[in-house]
Amino acid sequence: MQARFENSGTMKLVFASNNAHKLDEVRNILSDVEIVSLREVGFVDEIDETGSTLEENSHLKAQTIWNWLEAHDLAKDCDGVFADDTGLEIDALNGAPGVYSARWAGEPSNDANNRAKALRELEGTTNRNAHFRTVITWIGKDIDIQVEGIVEGIISTEEQGNGGFGYDALFIPKGYTETFATLPAEVKNSISHRGRAMESLKKVIQKDSKCI
Ligand code: IMP
Repeated sequence: MQARFENSGTMKLVFASNNAHKLDEVRNILSDVEIVSLREVGFVDEIDETGSTLEENSHLKAQTIWNWLEAHDLAKDCDGVFADDTGLEIDALNGAPGVYSARWAGEPSNDANNRAKALRELEGTTNRNAHFRTVITWIGKDIDIQVEGIVEGIISTEEQGNGGFGYDALFIPKGYTETFATLPAEVKNSISHRGRAMESLKKVIQKDSKCI
């Protein structure tokens, strides 16, 4: 059944994801904004990420959902859609897996296999520098904005920690000795690629109050 928005007076944004970890992170950071997931809004299709950059894929996801909301007469009831696209860019691998991070070890996307591939590819490599980069696109009525967030770090030599998702058990952010999967969620959110991109989005929302 298709969810309908209610007019509560709070800013309402659709987040183009059903990933529970990401939804938690995003709801923590944009705590004043009502964040609606794709499932809650009734969107059940897969979006083909056919872009060759994080910018293209992030835009493609936000635009697809915004078009769908317009087609279903739901766009008028929210302040837009935002979508993120993230890549892990490893220096010694010339920026790989980058935009291909989700399906690096093959289809269907599998986090454990992706992490195992990263460890294999970096076996015996001393330069383990890497960064996560997130590009967020916010599309709404008269709005089409992109922001970016980056966190530098290194790829550990073995998995550490059970928290988080994706490559978290391998990524030690600069200035820390533990992986994202070991650090408390609040710490990760305060320094992560997505956290930083979300903080930039928050500033844009606050600055341009015409948008809301
Ligand atoms: P997506 O663009 O969010 O779909 O992410 C692309 C790939 O990066 C997927 O394999 C995710 O699991 C991984 N990824 C995205 N965000 C994070 C994160 O915060 N920590 C670890 N891995 C992530």
